[in-house]
Parts: sequence; C-alpha cells; structure tokens
Amino acid sequence: MLTSAVNKVNAKPVLVLREGAGDKENSLLNSIQAARTVSEVLKSSLGPKGMDKMLINNFGDIIITNDGRTMLQEMDLQHPVARMMVDVAKTIDNEVGDGTTSSVVVAGELLGKAEQLIKKGIHPTLIADGYEKASEKALETLDNIAITISLENKNELKKIAATSLASKIISNLKEPLSEVVVSAIFSVIREVDGKNIVDLDDVMVEKKLGESLASTNLVKGVIINKEIIHPAMPKRVEEARIALIDKALDLEKAQFDSKIRIDNPEQIEEFIKQEDALIGKLVDKIASTGANVLILQEDLNKLANYLLAKKGILTIRRVNQSIMKKVAKATGGHIINNFDALTEKDLGFAEVVEERTIGGSKLLFVENCRNPHSVAILIRGANKRIVDEAERSIHDALCVVRDVVQEQKIVAGGGAPEIEVARSLRKYAVTLVGKEQLAVNAYADALEIVPATLSENAGLNSIDTLPELRSCHEKGEVWAGVNVYVGKIQDMKSLEVYEPLSVKKQIIKSATEAAIMILKVDEIVSTKKQIRREEQPKKSPEEDRRERMEKLQYMM
Ligand code: ADP
Ligand code: MG
Repeated sequence: MLTSAVNKVNAKPVLVLREGAGDKENSLLNSIQAARTVSEVLKSSLGPKGMDKMLINNFGDIIITNDGRTMLQEMDLQHPVARMMVDVAKTIDNEVGDGTTSSVVVAGELLGKAEQLIKKGIHPTLIADGYEKASEKALETLDNIAITISLENKNELKKIAATSLASKIISNLKEPLSEVVVSAIFSVIREVDGKNIVDLDDVMVEKKLGESLASTNLVKGVIINKEIIHPAMPKRVEEARIALIDKALDLEKAQFDSKIRIDNPEQIEEFIKQEDALIGKLVDKIASTGANVLILQEDLNKLANYLLAKKGILTIRRVNQSIMKKVAKATGGHIINNFDALTEKDLGFAEVVEERTIGGSKLLFVENCRNPHSVAILIRGANKRIVDEAERSIHDALCVVRDVVQEQKIVAGGGAPEIEVARSLRKYAVTLVGKEQLAVNAYADALEIVPATLSENAGLNSIDTLPELRSCHEKGEVWAGVNVYVGKIQDMKSLEVYEPLSVKKQIIKSATEAAIMILKVDEIVSTKKQIRREEQPKKSPEEDRRERMEKLQYMM
C-alpha cells in the first residue's frame, strides 16, 4: 500500500497519500471486477435471443433497448474502469457502428481469464504481452477465413443488414428495413480514387410518430420538420429553385437605443412606409433571382410573410443550421448571409418541394435534388420508444452495410468465427513457450464466450454446444455456429447470417486494447480535488478583498 511507507524505528506508518487513496494489492482485481460487472450486464442482451433492458432515469423516463452503447451510456457508472468500458463501446460504435455488446463481453471475459492467471502467480504484464500476440494472430485468422463478396449481389448486403437487425427489438421487420437500408446506402455511394466511399451524413434519418414501423420508407432527398408559414403559399412547387438565407428577413434592429422624434401623425405614416418599402425591396430582390422556395434560418416579419405569399414563394423559417447545410449540400445551393449578395447561382435545385401531413404534423419534403447523393429515411412507428429504438437499430444496420461497401469482406456469424479463431490460437499456442502459451490459450478460451453466450441466451447449455462446435471446426466446418432460432449447430454461411469482417476485427481490437489497458493499471490513485473553472464559486467583492489583505499580511 502506498499509505504504508513504514518508518522502521517506531513502526508507525507514514501517510504519503490520504487514507484509502491507493491500494495496490486489490486495485487490479477490483478493476477486473468492475469491468466484468459491466460485461455481465450486457451479456444477457447478446444476439437475436438476447433480452432487452429497461433503463429508467431519475425523472422516471424510460428507454427500452437492446443496443449496447445506449445501455452503457445511460448507466450510472461510478468506477473509473467501468467507465473505460463505456469508451470501448464508443470507439467501436464510431469505427464500425456495430459489435458493441460483443466487444464489451469479450473484454470482460479476457479480464476474467486474466484474473485466473494472476491468481496462479502470473504477472499481468506477461498476460498483456500474450494477449497482444494472440490478438494479432486472431486478426490474421479472420483475414484468412473472410469471404469476398460482390456489390452486384444486393441480396448479400441485405443479409448483412438483416443480421444486424436480427438482434434488435424490431427484428420482426428486419426484411423490409434491410431493403430500405441497402437502398439508402446505394444511393449515396461515391467513387473516390477507384474506391467506394459512403458518408453517412448523406443519409438523414427523420422520425415521425404514427402508422407502423412497416411504413418506414426511403425518400430521395431531404425532409425538413417545418411547416409552410402562410396559408396562401403553394404547398407544392415543381422545378424548385431554393434560396437559403441564414439571416432574419426583417429590418436590422438598431445597434444602440435611438430616439425618433415624431411631431405629427403624417411622420409616423411616413416612417412606417419607409420601413415597408425596404421590406418590399428585400422580397423583390429574392424574387428577382428566380427563387420559388425560400428557406430561412431565422424569422421574418409579417409584411415579408404576406409579400412572399403574394409572390407565390413557398417559405419556411427557423430551420436549424445543420438542416440548412444538408439542404445546401443536397440541392447544390449556397447559404447566403446578405440579401444583396443573393444571385441566381446561389439557388439550390430540387425537382419537387412539397408539404405533406404525416402523423398529424406537417413535413416539408425536398425531393430529387441536384445532388442525388442525399437521401432520408422516414421512420414511422406507433410510439416514441419504438421509433427511438428503430433509429438506433437502423443506425447500426446502415453502418454494417457501409462497412461492407467500403471493404467487400464478410464472415458468417453465430459464434462461428470466434470458435475458428480460438482453434487457430490453440494451435499457435503450442509453438510458444511457458507463460505466453498460457496467456494465448486463455485468450482462445475467452473468445468462446461469444458462442457460449449466444447459446445460453437461446436457452441452450454451453457445456453441450461448445464441445460440439469445437469438433465441427476440427473437421473443417469453418462456419459451424449456433443457430439460435432452432437451437442447433448449423452452417451459418448457408443460413446467410453475415457480418462485416471489419466489425469482427474491430471487436478483437477494441476488446484486447481495453483488457490490456486495464491489466497494466496496477493502481488507481485519486488525485487532488480539481474544480472546473465554470464550477468555481464566484467570490463576493468582500471575500476577494479579505483574501488579498490576508495574502499581503503574510508577505509582510
Ligand atoms: P453486438 O452489439 O455485438 O452487435 P448483438 O446483440 O447485435 O451484439 O449480437 C451480435 C451477435 O449475434 C453476433 O455474434 C452475430 O453473429 C449473432 N447473430 C446474429 N444473428 C444470428 C442468428 N440468426 N443466429 C445466430 N447468431 C446470430
Ligand atoms: Mg449488433
């Protein structure tokens, strides 16, 4: 313990740190425990037969989810190592978008196996080194068994989306939703230097309550959650030329208090006339560019509203900046800050701009834009919880299809790759000596947590399934995995349970990285209390003066 730098003469401990600030002996085992607790929570939600979690915050708001990242993000975690597991989930979500639960479960199991080795007296650093080697070998094996696919075959891509959706609450609609997801990704593929690139920013996801999840559909363009501001404006404009302005359509407010001296009623009238004339000029200016749709980031005054309606210019206001940017990108228009600078060249183009009433509220659809690489998925559903979970699930499905479009390699799922990698690691371990061999074998055992958990969640006993799986793989059945729907070992490739190679590789990378990082921390030491600047209490002038006086006296 850091607190017991012992003074030998009178055997009284000299306290270097505050009591309880550092405790080396138990720190690592405690950290392992903390990380395992988190992975235990997620375990029961892995795979299509996994359970969902109901998360409730202090306001009583409820989220029902099966999404690993959401669970971790919303959990109130105190232990720093538990919070590190959240970072693992975030990394994998940002990199590949799926595989969060698996990576946390594998990381937890790697630490569990490490704990057993530590208790046998093996130093954590040696285990970490062994894990590092094992992960390199695991990645190599995954590359070797991966299947290359062709983008011509949309069916395979749909299966990839469907596998990702299979383990979600909304899995009963995985087929139609995979169709929507694959069409969305195909609409936004760009070729850069001979490579397929997908920017998920090009796929907008908008949710609207009403109808059912089955009515979720793809819109070629952008959806704006705003309604047209004047009843006399057209509800549909074809061959839309769209002006995008991020300034209020009103007269500039005076910068300082100004007084206008008015002596008689004519002067008031004159003053208002001048203002109106200016507004009229601004509207004329917009109309003169040929714009028939106006999208404003800010507000506009009543007269402008009336004049725009009179000119038949479809207008919406208070559109947030990120949507303005999306519309600009989709329609090829420019966002302008100064009405005088607006020209015809700044206008965006879309074949149709139309207001439609969906789920009781009005949405503006900007369709068939100049830049076809811009689509929107409109999620429908009976209640907010379903719509929110659908959004999270569709995000994962979009990510996996994007991953495969960018690197056309897949593996089959159901725990098959994990068993195959474990098998190759055990072979590799034989070539190593001593403690490293133990660590590599422990790594292989840890990976089997994926098929073990998939079968446990499907009501099977992993004591039966794991040996059967191992023997199938020994016989060369690379894709033998757990078909959780029928509770049998089957060929996952012929069942078309496909996952991106990149997700499987990222699970290995993230889980190993987290486990090693935790293994290398032998002590958690709380540092001095820091107060964030914004949290610092403001001193009263009196306090401030007294403090300065005290300092002065001290110096004298
Ligand atoms: P993650 O957050 O790690 O993606 P999921 O809950 O989505 O966790 O579960 C993913 C696991 O479920 C993968 O190992 C995948 O192979 C498996 N899986 C998906 N569909 C099936 C299926 N039909 N049969 C067996 N396993 C499946
Ligand atoms: Mg998943």
